[in-house]
Amino acid sequence: MSQRSSSTDILIVGGGIAGLWLNARLRRQGYSTLLVERSELGAGQTLRSQGIIHGGTKYALSGMLTGASEAIADMPQRWREALAGTGELDLRGVRVLSDAHYLWSPGSLAGNLTSFFASKAVRTRVGQVKGNELPLPLQHPGFKGKVYRLSELVLDVPSLVARMAELAGDSLVACQTIEPLHENDELIGLVLDGHAVRARRIILTAGAGTADLLQRLGLQQPAQQLRPLHMVMLKGPTLKPLFAHCLGGGSKPRITVTSHPAADGQWIWYLGGELAEAAGVARDEAAQIGAAKRELADLLPWLDLSAAQWATLRVDRAEPAQSNQARPDNAFLAEQGRLLVGWPTKLALSPDLADRVIAHLQHQSIKPAQHEPGPAFPRPVTGQPFWTGLLS
Ligand SMILES: Cc1cc2nc3c(=O)[nH]c(=O)nc-3n(C[C@H](O)[C@H](O)[C@H](O)COP(=O)(O)OP(=O)(O)OC[C@H]3O[C@@H](n4cnc5c(N)ncnc54)[C@H](O)[C@@H]3O)c2cc1C
Repeated sequence: MSQRSSSTDILIVGGGIAGLWLNARLRRQGYSTLLVERSELGAGQTLRSQGIIHGGTKYALSGMLTGASEAIADMPQRWREALAGTGELDLRGVRVLSDAHYLWSPGSLAGNLTSFFASKAVRTRVGQVKGNELPLPLQHPGFKGKVYRLSELVLDVPSLVARMAELAGDSLVACQTIEPLHENDELIGLVLDGHAVRARRIILTAGAGTADLLQRLGLQQPAQQLRPLHMVMLKGPTLKPLFAHCLGGGSKPRITVTSHPAADGQWIWYLGGELAEAAGVARDEAAQIGAAKRELADLLPWLDLSAAQWATLRVDRAEPAQSNQARPDNAFLAEQGRLLVGWPTKLALSPDLADRVIAHLQHQSIKPAQHEPGPAFPRPVTGQPFWTGLLS
């Protein structure tokens, strides 16, 4: 073990949105924190996400409001308050790409959606739009579908991560090697690149890296599941911004489109949804691009994509293990002695994960304490947008 040691209230491992949000909330409450990142801030799922701050409506597509729809319903409002500077964090300056996300049904409403839209809880959150209220790419005489506006934001995630890094102040630690620090068989901290840090709580928010960390700590639980995705992106001079779930026949969107500004002023469309799930994961890059081209030609035949550049991106969603690889409904937090392990399960649910940690600290009567200043650790850099190196 190292000769040198220091201490902090809370030691967080993983600088994606979960760790960054939690870190900023705890610092605001006066806790001393360190947030350890081995790669770049946001480099896991966060900077590859679509940035939609879901309110749960998408998960109600089966015609019933499920647990997910209820748990997540508060999130858009909490994020809006943070973006306005009046909420639990001050996120002023983070770029909002769209104030709404849209549900777009290419034909007439499928049967299951009739009951979905008849449900009172959905009606209060969803309004139909027509004519020049439609997203620009759908404003075409050939467009026959129906479009509903959801009160869900879409954020520019690179600007979110940059702001969260500012809110982290001097708490960020770039570190390659993490070892457990034990005393009398109890985990009391971590050794970060040879430097021992004692902590009153250690919180793993390392996304897909959490399973390895648990193994290193000699733990089997909580179990993690990975859900692979094969996303598609395209960039072209004719693309106008579109933020929409396009409905298919099933309970999942056929495609989910978000749009992201490239440095040269052009828009990048990022395609997820059913396209990126099981069948898409089985396709190689060329076949996946072919499938995406066919989807867009079918749904938006008036789009001229002849000059578009295309690429795909494989990325796993990391979550607590569920039966049948189902989507977890809420942020997840498990506790074991001084160790807490969390997956937000959605970027939008990071505030929910932080709430759970703060409730744990309150329940355990852990209040901010004084610590001797530790050494100055190197600071991790902020990661790049998902298209970097894939599209010019
Ligand atoms: C393609 C895609 C689209 C998505 N779209 C949306 C969306 O529109 N809306 C939404 O709400 N959610 C979305 N999600 C889900 C969302 O991105 C994730 O739930 C969220 O980003 C998870 O954040 P996290 O901080 O837990 O993990 P991550 O973002 O994966 O961060 C984990 C961090 O831990 C670091 N790390 C790992 N191991 C170690 C270690 N040993 N030591 C130190 N650091 C370590 C990693 O480098 C990484 O920076 C999407 C996910 C994907 C993959």
